[in-house]
Amino acid sequence: MTSEVKKFDTLLVANRGEIACRVMRTARAMGLRTVAVYSDADANARHVREADEAVRLGPAAARESYLKVEAVIEAARRTGAGAIHPGYGFLSENGPFVEALEKAGITFVGPPASAIAAMGDKSAAKERMSHAGVPLVPGYHGDDQDDALLKSEADKIGYPVLLKASAGGGGKGMRVVESAAGFQAALDGCRRESQAAFGDQRMLIEKYLTQPRHVEVQVFCDSHGNGVYLFERDCSVQRRHQKVLEEAPAPGMSAELRREMGEAAVRAAREIGYVGAGTVEFLLDADGSFFFMEMNTRLQVEHPVTEMITGQDLVEWQLRVAMGERLPLAQDELTITGHSFEARLYAEDPEQDFLPATGRLDRFALDLVGAGLDPAKVRLDSGVETGDVVSMHYDPMLAKLIVHGDDRDQALATLNRALAALDVQGVVTNRAFLQRLATHPAFKGCELDTRFIEKNEATLF
Ligand code: ADP
Repeated sequence: MTSEVKKFDTLLVANRGEIACRVMRTARAMGLRTVAVYSDADANARHVREADEAVRLGPAAARESYLKVEAVIEAARRTGAGAIHPGYGFLSENGPFVEALEKAGITFVGPPASAIAAMGDKSAAKERMSHAGVPLVPGYHGDDQDDALLKSEADKIGYPVLLKASAGGGGKGMRVVESAAGFQAALDGCRRESQAAFGDQRMLIEKYLTQPRHVEVQVFCDSHGNGVYLFERDCSVQRRHQKVLEEAPAPGMSAELRREMGEAAVRAAREIGYVGAGTVEFLLDADGSFFFMEMNTRLQVEHPVTEMITGQDLVEWQLRVAMGERLPLAQDELTITGHSFEARLYAEDPEQDFLPATGRLDRFALDLVGAGLDPAKVRLDSGVETGDVVSMHYDPMLAKLIVHGDDRDQALATLNRALAALDVQGVVTNRAFLQRLATHPAFKGCELDTRFIEKNEATLF
């Protein structure tokens, strides 16, 4: 399954911002030497300052720096890095990159290329999931793409249906079809979009769930055949499919549903020979039925809420698994303690349709003691400090505020106090929007579904 395992003492982190800093924090604690990579826009960035060594990749544009496979591999060679952690985004789910590392004899801190490929195509992935007994949204994901056949499948499923590009991602080539009358026009539109974005026209059709929650399960597998789940996260609060507030555990889950979803997620991972940290995303319907959506074959942005409720360091697990060790804990040794939230702080202006903001951070601080907050209960994962410049080149996420409480209400109260205590000056952020979300009666009341923001627009803006 995996190529031979090699110990390593130097880790290159092929990313930037908060995740690069977060990965290096654990690497240092484990006694590893850390190597950062950077583009010209990031020459003086926090992740570069914190690394033991740093290598320039190229100009600011990501495709000329952070996405440049040869440059990243060369940086690892030059610095003697035996392993590369990809973070999320950039090269984290890039099959050819992982294959190139396998050839170069450098350890990829993530799954084998074959597992990434297995989840890359939505139709093929659904076929395998169905084989593994993982519940799917009723739908059609066959090879026959004849217009009349697709239409009759949609009729059979019952409207509304969702058309999705097989090769899709990021919401492209995806449309809701409300009735039979609109099917052909939507199909033509999706095919065009999918052809333009992915060079592929294959479509799948799914029953469109009108009020689902986004509940995802954290899984972990080692290279010795062990697999566990570290429970679930609710990420229903999204704006244009972008997660904004996440929490763990998901409110209102029975122990039985939690076990069923967890076991389904581990089956999904086993089916594709998974190794490392992965997330299996499900849609959870109001009646408690759940359906596989996709598997993300990397560490997620929102992994800290899982760390907070389990007391585990997922990056440490990743590095240990990459070194060939067994999973630190078995399923029955994992437990949930309390509740956790994560709020994503973006440099963007909610007053101007969330336009990304840039500038110099005249101040970026969170004085926990001054605010009377317990440092053990609040964590700020950030890629910036006072004095840093926020450019327009990359994802506008500045930091993540993560809190823990004995129960959901307590954790939410802490989140609100921590958001208020955050002192950011010089760059516009979505902080006030996060505060409106986190104090919203419907959020407090767990009225969650993926259209939460849309539905509560009147009171959020
Ligand atoms: P992408 O890979 O383009 O992000 P996904 O298949 O992950 O596409 O779906 C993106 C989002 O669309 C999900 O997070 C969910 O909110 C919504 N969605 C996907 N499938 C369905 C469905 N069958 N019914 C209702 N909503 C869905």
